[in-house]
Amino acid sequence: MLNFTCTQVYCPDPLISELHSPLSTLGFIDDRARGFLETAGFTDVESLLLWYPRRYEDRRQFSGFPTAPCDDAVCLLAKVVDCEMKHVGPRRRYFEATILPIDEGALDQPIGCRWFNMPYMSKVFAVDQEVVLYGKPKWSGRRLVIDHPDYEIVEDGDSAEADIHLRRIVPVYRLKDGLHQKAIRAAIYRLLDQLDPGVVPDFLRKPAEGSPFAGMSRYKAMQAIHFPESMEDRQLGRDYLALEEFFGLQLNMLRRKHAYAAQNGTSHCGKGELLAKFQASLPFSLTNAQLRAIEDVREGLNSIRPMNRLLQGDVGSGKTFVAMAAALLVVEAGFQAAIMAPTQILAEQHYLVFQKHLKPLGIRLRLHTGSRKEDGSMPLFDGSGIDADPQIIIGTHALLYDDAQLSNLGLAVIDEQHKFGVSQRSRLINKGITPDVLVMTATPIPRTLTMTVYGDLEVSVLDELPAGRGKIVTAVREEPDPKKVTAFLRQHLAEGRQAYLVYPLVEESEKLADVRAVTKEFEEWSERLAPLKCGILHGRMSGDEKDAVMARFRSREVQVLVATTVIEVGVDVPNANIMIIYHADRFGLAQLHQLRGRIGRGEHDSYCVLVCDGKNPEAIAKLKVLEETRDGFRIAEADLRLRGPGELLGTAQSGVAGLRLGDLVADARLVKVSRDLASEVLDVDPDLKSPDYLHLRTLLDNRSEGVELS
Ligand code: ADP
Ligand code: MG
Repeated sequence: MLNFTCTQVYCPDPLISELHSPLSTLGFIDDRARGFLETAGFTDVESLLLWYPRRYEDRRQFSGFPTAPCDDAVCLLAKVVDCEMKHVGPRRRYFEATILPIDEGALDQPIGCRWFNMPYMSKVFAVDQEVVLYGKPKWSGRRLVIDHPDYEIVEDGDSAEADIHLRRIVPVYRLKDGLHQKAIRAAIYRLLDQLDPGVVPDFLRKPAEGSPFAGMSRYKAMQAIHFPESMEDRQLGRDYLALEEFFGLQLNMLRRKHAYAAQNGTSHCGKGELLAKFQASLPFSLTNAQLRAIEDVREGLNSIRPMNRLLQGDVGSGKTFVAMAAALLVVEAGFQAAIMAPTQILAEQHYLVFQKHLKPLGIRLRLHTGSRKEDGSMPLFDGSGIDADPQIIIGTHALLYDDAQLSNLGLAVIDEQHKFGVSQRSRLINKGITPDVLVMTATPIPRTLTMTVYGDLEVSVLDELPAGRGKIVTAVREEPDPKKVTAFLRQHLAEGRQAYLVYPLVEESEKLADVRAVTKEFEEWSERLAPLKCGILHGRMSGDEKDAVMARFRSREVQVLVATTVIEVGVDVPNANIMIIYHADRFGLAQLHQLRGRIGRGEHDSYCVLVCDGKNPEAIAKLKVLEETRDGFRIAEADLRLRGPGELLGTAQSGVAGLRLGDLVADARLVKVSRDLASEVLDVDPDLKSPDYLHLRTLLDNRSEGVELS
């Protein structure tokens, strides 16, 4: 047994403190190895246990010595028969170790293992060594070679060593800073071997008999993931640990949800007379989905418990009108509502829509513009954006940082468009006001993902598009002739329609070179389409310039907008019915779907052409999904499979804090299970007060922000 001592006197739980003992308490790690481990960032026992293997090699049974190239990597036990530094040309050289099977037969052909530009390899290998090698053999001339295989030298004599590194399914770890594979493997092996299982507390309750995890514990799972008896064993351990990660996330989510709901707020709901007037004034009737969502919101506003609701709906499903309805209920009760959009253009557009529908009802609106002139006046809005004592304030997220305006806030509507993080939401909540919160997102994401990313919110879904829309015909085209495109555009523009030509950019901050490229396209299209007018819109333009162009496009003075992805978010010009997206293959399906959502908003049929260069058949197959469906959820699922959750959530990395093993897509089932487990625990002990949950609380405190996207 390890001799753990609790050095931190104040530590509430001796078990945890032992997991956090420094490496120096581990007698089996000598000073030199410890130095390497510490340099690599391993600070305590737990950090070693949590360093999960990257892959495994089954060294119970080595691959047969290959005589031809293989598709998959092979794992060989071999002996070194020759070592040589070789030169190719005057400057390039490589080290080659030639290997043969240990029990060499007359027919065995040697294999060359080559390392380029790594001269120090000559110090690693020596003739007669036994080695384990892992890599893909291929032909080089008439010889078989493996370039840069993973390697381990077999030390002879020590059979204890052999138990760790040979004759088993061996874990292979990612290495950091000069650390050797065998050193970290041996450290983790001995640690597990000598650890009192009681030192590793279970976060999950004991799995029931008959559950796939019956008999599993955190300690056993650790053993299984590091030194599995079989790959099935490994899978079970891995799943158990992944479940535990999701469980931690869900506990945090649910605790945040409960904490928010437990606050005492105020009812922010008026009688609904304004809402009735608004409905009567609309040129259309609200869809059933919109009515249902408004009912959900009304309930939330009415309750003295603060509302924290997500409104999920595809582009064009009419979320803005639900937001207006919510704002009216709040205004009628004598409170302010704030609408926050991710960009200035969007805020301005929301403002225009609100103005159009709510001014006639006598509602006082203000457009808050972070980047505007001191007096708040804007050329395009001739001061109409500065109603005194506004009932509804519309702006970007900058509103969050401006305390003065939100003194009487009853409702915050956050138009998220997948760019608004948990931390911003909590910023609002932490301001000491407890408004009701409605988050709107146009990214339909699968339920299990919603559970993790928005797990602290109630959800309403707009699953119905307003009737009376023209259809959208979507077509994938390879490098179409500009002459044909021009003719196509002219035909529709002649009928009075408008078009977007999109040159999407990958970068959020658009590079100068990209802007130049778009500017060039703009000039070419202006020429081709003359005397019809083109406008240009990109991220490097100032707010005023963008406003001006959008205004001219809306008023139809400009017929064609040559734009970058700036227009992805929420731009609403129902008369525009054509969109041609160039380089479509560079983009995720969800993003293309968002872009396409800019058309198909009026009664005319719309056309979306996805242009790609045709070099990549896979890309074309992917784009075909968009030809087939307009269902945002189906597209999101496809995108998720193709590109992982990071893209969908609009974050560069797909990482969610607290997940080392868990995969939000592949582990959907575990996410659901973890949600249930977490609610069970919180139902019984909402504050995790009982001593049984002490280590759970520690787990959660160590992960305070839970699902902040990293
Ligand atoms: P979203 O914000 O969900 O993308 P919007 O609220 O901007 O959608 O609505 C998209 C378009 O549909 C707008 O032009 C709006 O006027 C129109 N619209 C919204 N609700 C309805 C409805 N119930 N019936 C007909 N048209 C609607
Ligand atoms: Mg919208």
